[in-house]
Amino acid sequence: MVWDYAPAPQARDIVSIAAKYGLFIDGEFAPSASGETFVTVNPATEERLADVAAAGPADVDRAVRAARAAHDRVWGPMPGVQRAKYLYRIARILQERAREFAVLETLDNGKPIRESRDVDVPLAAAHFFYHAGWADKLEYAGFGQAPQPLGVAGQIIPWNFPLLMAAWKLAPALAAGNTCVLKPAETTPLSALLLADVCQQADLPPGVVNVTTGAGDTGSALVSHPGVDKIAFTGSTEVGKEIRRAVAGTGKRLTLELGGKAANVVFDDAPLDQAVEGIVNGIFFNQGHVCCAGSRLLVQESVAGPVVERLKRRIDTLRLGDPLDKNTDIGAINSRQQLDKIRELSAAGEAEGASRWSPQCQLPPRGYWFPPTVFTGVSQSNRIAREEIFGPVLSVLTFRTPDEAVVKANNTPYGLSAGVWTEKGSRILWMAQRLRSGVVWANTFNRFDPASPFGGYRESGFGREGGRHGLEAYLDV
Ligand code: NDP
Repeated sequence: MVWDYAPAPQARDIVSIAAKYGLFIDGEFAPSASGETFVTVNPATEERLADVAAAGPADVDRAVRAARAAHDRVWGPMPGVQRAKYLYRIARILQERAREFAVLETLDNGKPIRESRDVDVPLAAAHFFYHAGWADKLEYAGFGQAPQPLGVAGQIIPWNFPLLMAAWKLAPALAAGNTCVLKPAETTPLSALLLADVCQQADLPPGVVNVTTGAGDTGSALVSHPGVDKIAFTGSTEVGKEIRRAVAGTGKRLTLELGGKAANVVFDDAPLDQAVEGIVNGIFFNQGHVCCAGSRLLVQESVAGPVVERLKRRIDTLRLGDPLDKNTDIGAINSRQQLDKIRELSAAGEAEGASRWSPQCQLPPRGYWFPPTVFTGVSQSNRIAREEIFGPVLSVLTFRTPDEAVVKANNTPYGLSAGVWTEKGSRILWMAQRLRSGVVWANTFNRFDPASPFGGYRESGFGREGGRHGLEAYLDV
């Protein structure tokens, strides 16, 4: 008998999506000066969700001025204990409206509701709670007795964790006394606009948070605006480099959180079943649209056969399909453009001689979909071992000795994250000292906590987000 899950659809009527959205500037929603809009679609169905205002340079200017006025008159001089109240309020409203946010995020992004409900939204609220706690304790953060905010922060975020990245950017900036102009990604603007609605509901003073939706040009206008004191960017290394060039010599502060090509290193003494769960979570969480995804599996040669076999068996059980179904593990790829990139790099993997495997799975007829994919027989020079695919594609390489594992793990221009699976604590520490990455997970993967700093080395960027270190990026120290 073939046994299957019954459908468990999450109702979408908890969210009401407007036909049109304006920019959020100075506490109010308004159309862009030019009247231009762009369309955001549901990547799982290609259904049009809404028309969203595209901010031009005049709108960005208005937002930066509003943020400056709010900083100088209200938010900067406000005692930390008062700022904390607003952050707590935002955190609590996020919790109260959690399901609404989760459904909206899943509709606009394509990620499974299981993840938006259990990861993105709770973590976003946790970031506001955590930073609310810092707002009146900045003088104890180790940055001097009276650390001052920088002023106006321009914040540009990607489409993979739209709400969570907004929280990562806004919460520390606001706690430190800065005001913000946030530019969400073009394909996922809706949860940032709902967060703007939460700011209104929380009675946040006008101009403290502004949301200027639009494409790359909007981000570029924000970066080059002379009224911005700090740019915080998360996205591709290519755009990060462009931003660094634009900011050079202006005196603006900059933090960049860019791409990655993380090694997930499995030693032969690791608990293999747990490691397999960690490998699956490392690369298939959020369809692999994760900058710190464990996209290179480095497995010790003596256990490579059993690990790959168990991995394939586990992947066979993953359910791909309707992101609003509560049983779904793998949702849609966020955009046609990203799907093309994943297809192109996967084809390059085959052309370069690696063996490709995907489970039998039916892809939905509409929308952007890619099956979970594993490449074995990958060599370090292959593009799939070097380039960030940003999709559900795992490259498997092997090693024999710990030294070889370190050399291979570090053989990348990136340095964002890594995973180590072994039962020996001493080996974990030995590896952690040698792996050139900002985060090293031991016997787990993709764990996030607002108290724990996150960020990279080299082409993965610089600066930290989260924890005490993350506050530094928004303080004049
Ligand atoms: P981008 O780096 O282009 O997008 C990130 C953000 O920057 C978006 O809000 C984008 O706007 C904006 N932006 C684009 N161009 C500029 C510019 N010149 N100045 C200022 N802001 C700009 O990433 P993509 O969405 O194009 O994805 C491309 C690749 O980047 C992916 O395939 C993936 O490999 C990698 N990536 C890595 C991420 C990470 O967290 N490390 C996150 C996202 C992507 P808009 O969305 O409108 O283009």
